[in-house]
Amino acid sequence: MALFLALLSSAFATWAQQSARVAPADILIVHAKIYTVDEKKPWAQSLAIRKGKIVAVGTDEQVGRMRGIGTKMIDAGGKLVLPGFTDCHIHFIEGGFSLARVNLEGAKDVAEIQSRLKAYVDKHPDDKWVLGRGWNYAMFAPETLPNKKYLDELFPVIAVFLKGYDGHTSWANSKALALAGITKATPNPPNGEIVRDPKTGEATGALKESAGDLVSKVVPKPTYVEKLNALRAGMKWANQNGITRVHSAGGEFQQLDLLQELRNEKQLTVRFHVAYTLAPPELRAQDLDAIEAARKKFHDEWIDVNSVKFFLDGVVESHTAAFLEPYTDDPSTKGSLFWDPEKYKAAVTELDKKGLQLYTHAIGDYAVRTALDAYELAEQKNHSKDHRNRVEHIETITAADIPRFAKLGVIASMQPLHSYPDQDTFDVWARNIGPDRASRAWVWKSIAQHGGHYAFGSDWPVVTLNPWQGIQTAVTRQTTDGKPPGGFVSSQRLTVAQAVEGYTIEAAYAGHLEKTEGSLETGKVADVIMVDRNIFEINPRTIDQTKVVLTIVGGKIVYEADTL
Ligand SMILES: [Zn+2]
Repeated sequence: MALFLALLSSAFATWAQQSARVAPADILIVHAKIYTVDEKKPWAQSLAIRKGKIVAVGTDEQVGRMRGIGTKMIDAGGKLVLPGFTDCHIHFIEGGFSLARVNLEGAKDVAEIQSRLKAYVDKHPDDKWVLGRGWNYAMFAPETLPNKKYLDELFPVIAVFLKGYDGHTSWANSKALALAGITKATPNPPNGEIVRDPKTGEATGALKESAGDLVSKVVPKPTYVEKLNALRAGMKWANQNGITRVHSAGGEFQQLDLLQELRNEKQLTVRFHVAYTLAPPELRAQDLDAIEAARKKFHDEWIDVNSVKFFLDGVVESHTAAFLEPYTDDPSTKGSLFWDPEKYKAAVTELDKKGLQLYTHAIGDYAVRTALDAYELAEQKNHSKDHRNRVEHIETITAADIPRFAKLGVIASMQPLHSYPDQDTFDVWARNIGPDRASRAWVWKSIAQHGGHYAFGSDWPVVTLNPWQGIQTAVTRQTTDGKPPGGFVSSQRLTVAQAVEGYTIEAAYAGHLEKTEGSLETGKVADVIMVDRNIFEINPRTIDQTKVVLTIVGGKIVYEADTL
């Protein structure tokens, strides 16, 4: 008995000493189901935040000791808490702009597009340009490309310019073509095509890849304030969906000053990794200067520049993705690389040597192989270790290249919602490349089984940044109504936990941040979200209905639903 008391009192003394030293938390989340994504301790009840960092994770009893007079108590009422999500591939300011433009996502046919445009014009009668995005190729079958005639009927006077959902093909009406000076005589720009009527030679209004820039160039530029507002709207939308960090894959490098201004005004509620987009044909001194200057200026936990993005090919739908063998529906083409492979490899080697992380957009199997070859060569020449260079998209791949991600330490940066197996995916994407290549569609699971790392994102505004739809698609590989039965290349279905990792710890790894972000552990940043349902327990086909009820970034509440 004496011994027991002695033990008890010494335990009490230790506890009392410890608790005396423990400073009170700023925020305590209690009565939660916390999925920490920390494999040593995957589940917890409660967590404490102080000065932007997580200072305790454990049971209500353990963490409750950090309650002080000023501590904000959040009773989760059993709700699921997760680390804040990272979107590893995003075009953020474009996404922010898209929130205020015509959204054609989900439109069933041309008539629905026309009625959405009309509704927009009725609300904005003074606009001289109508901009929008989100149409898909399948609604223009069998050519699968849009035509200006559908727009000219309704809008003979104002200019209409609409990007396809993937951003790779544009659709302009006659007014927009005229303002851009596009005539029969206009030659195709490098890496682009002005689609022409086979009989008359006139532009049809469909503009592939860089041909869209001919029109974008003449669209009135947004003002400084409009840009700031687009970023603010984007951050609000991101936080509302549970996103706390993004990896910008193009568009934000030009906006670094705006991001800095938002930070100075304490309005930054999303953390930004920003890549410099390097255009072909080669790496120039002025590119290096711009990268180095930005790198010197931006390198903290909120804004950092340490990566360079290449576009190596286009997309499957418009036959611009580069393949080793010809397209199945059009054997006259294999697509082609946007870069001369030798110049691309030289640029990769030089940038890798400087310790920059490289992103390469590669969708067709030839582009994916060229990117892996370039990274392998850079590693050999530079003896670089752990650079975590990335291939973006990887829509299909040869079987031989799957294990190379693990072998070379290359990250597979993929966007689950791009694999959403709707009609467009089968009627256009799978038709264009045939069943063999389509059998290796979005193979994140195979890459992971070989030991490779995968990181998830959206490519917003190509598709919504809503990660819950992404998780559902990664887990089911089906549409929301359960098609196809068993799932599209069902061998690639992930568990819910694996899909969550793609947006959390794997995403942090892809950004060299797994020591400070990506899981809920003591010492890591307090980027935390709470959702209205337990995605581990519900029917996976309803995960897309998940609503975020609370988002904390750097220990600050940046979004709170009315229902909390
Ligand atoms: Zn992209």
